[in-house]
Amino acid sequence: MIEFSYNIKDVAAIVGQKSLINSPKQTISQILTDSRKITDALASLFFALAGNKNSHLFIYEIYQKGVRSFVITETDFDTTAFPDANFIWVSNCLEAMQKLVLHHRMQFNYPVIGITGSNGKTIIKEWLHQLLASEYQIIRSPKSYNSQMGVPLSVWQMNNKFNLGIFEAGISKPHEMEVLADIIKPTIGVLTNIGAAHDEGFTNRTEKLIEKLKLFKEAEVLIIETKNLLPSITAKKTFTWSFTANADLKIIEQEIVEQKFTLLKAIYKQQELQIKIPFINQASVENAVVCWAVLLQLNLSNEIIANNFLKLQTVKMRLELKNGINQSSIIDDSYNSDFISLDIALDFLNQQHQHQSKTLILSDIEQSGIAPQKLYQNVAQLIKNKGVDHFIGIGEQLCKHQNLFKADSLFFLNTPDFITHFDKDQIENTTVLIKGARSFEFERISKILAQKIHDTQLEINLNAVVHNLNYYKSKLQPNVKLMAMVKAFAYGNGGDQIAMLLQHNRVDYLAVAYTDEGYEIRKAGVILPIMVLNPEVPSFDSIINYCLEPQLYSFRILKAFADELLKRGIKDYPVHLKIDTGMHRLGFMPEEMPELLEFIKTKSCFKVKSVFSHLAASENDLQKEYTAQQISTFKGCVALIESVLDYPFIKHIANTSAITKWPDAQFDMVRLGIGLYGIESNKAERGNLQHVATLKTSISQIKELKKGNTIGYGRSGVMPKDGKIATVKIGYADGFPRALGNGKGGMLINNQLVPTIGNICMDMTMLDISDADVNIGDDVIVFGEGLSVYTLANQLDTIPYEVITSISQRVKRVYYYE
Ligand SMILES: *Cc1c(COP(=O)(O)O)cnc(C)c1O
Repeated sequence: MIEFSYNIKDVAAIVGQKSLINSPKQTISQILTDSRKITDALASLFFALAGNKNSHLFIYEIYQKGVRSFVITETDFDTTAFPDANFIWVSNCLEAMQKLVLHHRMQFNYPVIGITGSNGKTIIKEWLHQLLASEYQIIRSPKSYNSQMGVPLSVWQMNNKFNLGIFEAGISKPHEMEVLADIIKPTIGVLTNIGAAHDEGFTNRTEKLIEKLKLFKEAEVLIIETKNLLPSITAKKTFTWSFTANADLKIIEQEIVEQKFTLLKAIYKQQELQIKIPFINQASVENAVVCWAVLLQLNLSNEIIANNFLKLQTVKMRLELKNGINQSSIIDDSYNSDFISLDIALDFLNQQHQHQSKTLILSDIEQSGIAPQKLYQNVAQLIKNKGVDHFIGIGEQLCKHQNLFKADSLFFLNTPDFITHFDKDQIENTTVLIKGARSFEFERISKILAQKIHDTQLEINLNAVVHNLNYYKSKLQPNVKLMAMVKAFAYGNGGDQIAMLLQHNRVDYLAVAYTDEGYEIRKAGVILPIMVLNPEVPSFDSIINYCLEPQLYSFRILKAFADELLKRGIKDYPVHLKIDTGMHRLGFMPEEMPELLEFIKTKSCFKVKSVFSHLAASENDLQKEYTAQQISTFKGCVALIESVLDYPFIKHIANTSAITKWPDAQFDMVRLGIGLYGIESNKAERGNLQHVATLKTSISQIKELKKGNTIGYGRSGVMPKDGKIATVKIGYADGFPRALGNGKGGMLINNQLVPTIGNICMDMTMLDISDADVNIGDDVIVFGEGLSVYTLANQLDTIPYEVITSISQRVKRVYYYE
């Protein structure tokens, strides 16, 4: 949704090698890379990016939805079925998209701030926006759109209504920055903290720094900490800052005042200046200093600077999915609103529609750079396209343009007006997206509609699940399918939400352990095929009613299921045959093959969708021979089954660790389990995965105790010296095992590891915090980044699988998406 457009012929001239223009009048204002994200079909240009699935295959589907312009690479692509469509051939679609955006960028010559660094990019971008919004019309990257794809999509939003751009750039490998530098063309460069993030792709820190500095090759000024100054800097000018060395902006004093502010004094142009920020942690202080330098560079008055810093607010970019009142689900995105992030949030709403209906509560969109009439027309269109059932608009602009929305929509002038007049029982059995600009304080609405959370919660990072999925997809041989294992409540992470996410990200199959798990995710809206590992006779009814696909592993089950199908007169029902090649759990033994073949070759009641087996020790290098033997036995059994069935079926044996350790055993499909959730037995692979689950709790009470005082049941905890303990709200009933008591385990508070003391109780645990700096209200991490599940598993002499699946259902799951 942009206030300009390009004619398709011009686009072809900018990016194409060859083109076929059947609709020469077409004008393009939207870049489309995902068939699920169409908002304005006719104005969209689809780029068939290379990915795990060939996106040329989606062209027909996208054409059906009204898109008429395509950038493709396949030279022999058959265009005859698309008589009125435009095709532009290029050698690389991502590069073509970048080229088009580069052309677009050249149309504007207002200042652009380009930000890169390892940490703090998004926070600094958002803070600069908060600090400069009173002075400029700003276009900025939505969320943390800073990749090879995200940057072009961000810069594409530039138009003449804005007079300042703020874009962030992130890289994970050498040579990526040149491209981003061309597209962003920052006039003001900002280098944030260079830390450890994404270290893997680089040989050392200096290499990484040199790479990042490429963003600023043509910048008029570069804002940089003195310690990062390198000879390779080519920016015309630098603006340095430092806490210790001489610099343009030199911090001379830093002091915490009124317990929640930091007062900073600095020398700038021989003058002493000061600001006060409502944060006290060091990372925030450094980020604020970077922003301060930018504001000084832009010549803002000291008064405005001081004023705006005082109002600085926390940046929260993530969308949270929580349980709401009256069996509803709440997606909380109450901290920002712009068109792209609304689009992203609506996609998330669609992906997680676990209820019949979808509700959107939206505030006015501020600083869109688009005339209100057009903006809200587009918003109304977007909402319609995304299938929102109930719309609630809050704000003067939305009220003014309410005629653009569905007749039964509700409108309120401001947040207090909504809180006073809206009957919250109208929210029932629906998924609600709460999306508002900061100034509307929608967190007040989310507080009213979300269920109160008992303080212990398991936070699930859905982006990380997607990252891990894509990592394993990248390890698959061509055309290998992927079955995702979501048994046991998706390994403790939450069946419905994870299943919906995986469906949205196009896995081919799901598998659960029991019928009722399958039935639950079906009810949540999963339409993918679902395999059930333990189908029992009494559950056949549900299996058939909910189109679940049983694993048949013994003659007892095979015959009972066949009888059931015959009784109902069903033909070709999809089933999976499990062969026991050495796990010795479930499955037909190789010597049972003749009898099995005899049985299946005469049966038309079912159709064998797949034949599979399970490896007993794929992760263990000492068991290589056994694994190889299992694979070879599997091949033998498969060949026999192939000889009696006159149709093809899927073959699969690999679990997570076999995907990378036994790539030749991927056959037609792999079954990805634990790796999805960020855990790998193979240490070499761990660095490639992202952390998914964080178990958090909080402190109920802090006590000072004397040496010799005893703690908890049985008095087994004894204070070794005078000190302090903290009582936290998690116990063995939540899945924090009693075996971790008496100092065997610990938790993380403010990055300090503190040991348990005394026995763990059912609902509470005591921690010895004598040597730590801890306050009531601090987050307590039971496991997560910094204290891994591997550590807990080691302490308990078990495997991570057991730790994560043992977290009790009473612990609330909170999902987030960035
Ligand atoms: C659980 C399970 C998997 C997944 O194993 P991971 O090690 O978690 O990847 C695969 N296949 C079967 C039959 C399973 O039961």
